[in-house]
Amino acid sequence: MHRRITRRDFLNGVAVTAGAAMMPWDLAVTGAGARDGQAAVGPENSPNYYPPALTGLRGSHPGSFDAAHSLRDGTFWDSAGTPEDTGEIYDLVIVGGGISGLAAAHFYRKATGGKARILILENHDDFGGHAKRNEFRAGDRTLLGYGGTYSIESPEPYSSAAKGVIEELGIEVSSFPKYLERNLYGANGRVPKIFFDKETFGADKLVDDPCPFPGGETFDLAVAGPEAWPHFMAEAPISEQARKDVSRLCREKKDYFPGLSAAQKEDRLARTSYARFLTESAGVHGDVIRLYQRISEPLFGVGIEAIAALDASESGYPGFSGMGLEPEGLSNERKYFFHFPDGNASIARLLVRKLIPQALPGNSATDVVTARADYAKLDESASPVRIRLNSTAVRVKHAGDPARATEVEIAYARGGKVYTVKAGRCILACWNVVIPYICEELPDAQKHALASAQKVPLLYTNVLLRNASAFQKLEANSIYAPGGYYTHVDMDLPVSMGEYRCPRAPEDPLVVHMSKSPCHAGLPARDQHIAGRMELYTTTFETMERKIREQLARTLGPGGFDPARDILAITANRWPHGYAYEYSTLWDKFLLEGGETPCELARKTHGRIAIANSDAGARAYTDEAINQAWRAVGEITKS
Ligand SMILES: Cc1cc2nc3c(=O)[nH]c(=O)nc-3n(C[C@H](O)[C@H](O)[C@H](O)COP(=O)(O)OP(=O)(O)OC[C@H]3O[C@@H](n4cnc5c(N)ncnc54)[C@H](O)[C@@H]3O)c2cc1C
Repeated sequence: MHRRITRRDFLNGVAVTAGAAMMPWDLAVTGAGARDGQAAVGPENSPNYYPPALTGLRGSHPGSFDAAHSLRDGTFWDSAGTPEDTGEIYDLVIVGGGISGLAAAHFYRKATGGKARILILENHDDFGGHAKRNEFRAGDRTLLGYGGTYSIESPEPYSSAAKGVIEELGIEVSSFPKYLERNLYGANGRVPKIFFDKETFGADKLVDDPCPFPGGETFDLAVAGPEAWPHFMAEAPISEQARKDVSRLCREKKDYFPGLSAAQKEDRLARTSYARFLTESAGVHGDVIRLYQRISEPLFGVGIEAIAALDASESGYPGFSGMGLEPEGLSNERKYFFHFPDGNASIARLLVRKLIPQALPGNSATDVVTARADYAKLDESASPVRIRLNSTAVRVKHAGDPARATEVEIAYARGGKVYTVKAGRCILACWNVVIPYICEELPDAQKHALASAQKVPLLYTNVLLRNASAFQKLEANSIYAPGGYYTHVDMDLPVSMGEYRCPRAPEDPLVVHMSKSPCHAGLPARDQHIAGRMELYTTTFETMERKIREQLARTLGPGGFDPARDILAITANRWPHGYAYEYSTLWDKFLLEGGETPCELARKTHGRIAIANSDAGARAYTDEAINQAWRAVGEITKS
């Protein structure tokens, strides 16, 4: 464990991408081409500038949030100097280059005939927001991972606006099974496992998971093998009663609220936590709570003590199959599912191709998987749409009285300086919590509502492994670790698309996805997110790397895994501001009592400034990011 990871062996056979772990501003800065003003001297013009291949601490990478945090702390303007006017004038400036911002540009062009001049400002070194692509080079092949948004899926049916965008991008959702090697893991005998750790359960043990991530039977391949129940019942290091309780929850159809109507049951489940339901209504042993405490973290960002039992039931978690309640969201979700090897980064890339065709070669939704983006072409003066990366909007205000002004002035920080541009309209497709700091002229009540959208922190780490032989020996494809630093260690869906081929043989190098939701059980949900965010900001990459090595060594060691030899590269996508906050009947009483939700007040259009992004709908899904872009464009083009 204490040996350094030199990756020396690896360099002999397969090579890790050069330039990894550099910051974009460290890369050569050269003037170039048809860009004007400071766009011409940005790091994006360097031939080495290629953020998807950077490893180390990514997601909200170092340097991406300094300006915004200094604005929050009230210190930004002390040292900012006088902004420099670029002289640039646009029809529309969009703050935020995530799927919502990119979709807003797309909708605006459609609404205005395609001639509009649009500038998108994005504080990160890459576009896509949470929909982020991670690339690894392994010998002569490129391996992809999703650094954020995983797939097209939603508990709600996609709206016609969202579906329309997916179709215009050429994505045929129904064709997904064609790209999925559905039987690959099963054919190799790899099934879902649970890693019980010594500290929590008294012994380190890898056991078949007989009842894997609930509701995931369609595409996530979380299929338990035939031996799973006997194996679990014999081997799981929890009390015998707890094993029987797990079997009852997963296999028996029992109604824990006999005599109540479906509506009464739902009302009761809405007011109690899932942990409480399991303990008090289903009467399970305390070991079951320890086993399931963290199953909800990937979806909700908090453990089962902080999610409503009704949400658990709607998500298909164990214990509700005999209650006569329909997990209605799941059927829609399962029908409309699509996963690119880089997740929904491909949606962001397809949107960029539509907006700036010269920046991303190709013409189909499958060739985009291996297409290489040309970052130097994102911000060319000749292009009607420009994306300016490494640029944090720090002030957005009407030029005069918002009711009568004809222009909005946007100031942004880039490379240590502040610049201004002007626009006829502005869409804030960034995060709600940022907006009060950059748009001070908004009414106080609206700012208050915006500030309540505490995002859910997440850590999505992709680890390039020399091969899958330990997974093969242990017959595992995904591992739930209730006591682990990361709760989930997953092989990605085996998807081959266009020129891209997923790893197939046990000896192939592969990218393993590890996820963590930093939260602090026992606190109200919003406070858990705030504490988790601080934890993410203060955890160094070195600490993460050590945790990864330790967890993989303990889990996969019996399969011959050696972290110093087998871990070839790590990309830790840190999202302190991750999922949009979704309202919960446990914590947001207005859901039970009725009335305007904070997000409705928060997203009100103000003069020539509209608000998009998934926070505006309080739903952490790609379709919501698109829906809100559609609404914002509709409102702004009417004003
Ligand atoms: C880890 C993770 C996994 C997810 N998985 C799924 C999934 O599988 N399926 C699904 O449907 N949804 C998923 N979601 C939710 C989905 O990704 C989001 O709802 C959607 O992508 C959000 O898009 P957005 O444009 O609203 O926000 P973002 O993607 O966050 O984009 C907003 C951008 O604005 C930038 N910004 C903020 N402030 C400023 C500023 N002052 N100046 C310039 N730029 C600024 C931000 O840095 C960000 O890049 C996931 C989210 C996360 C975090």
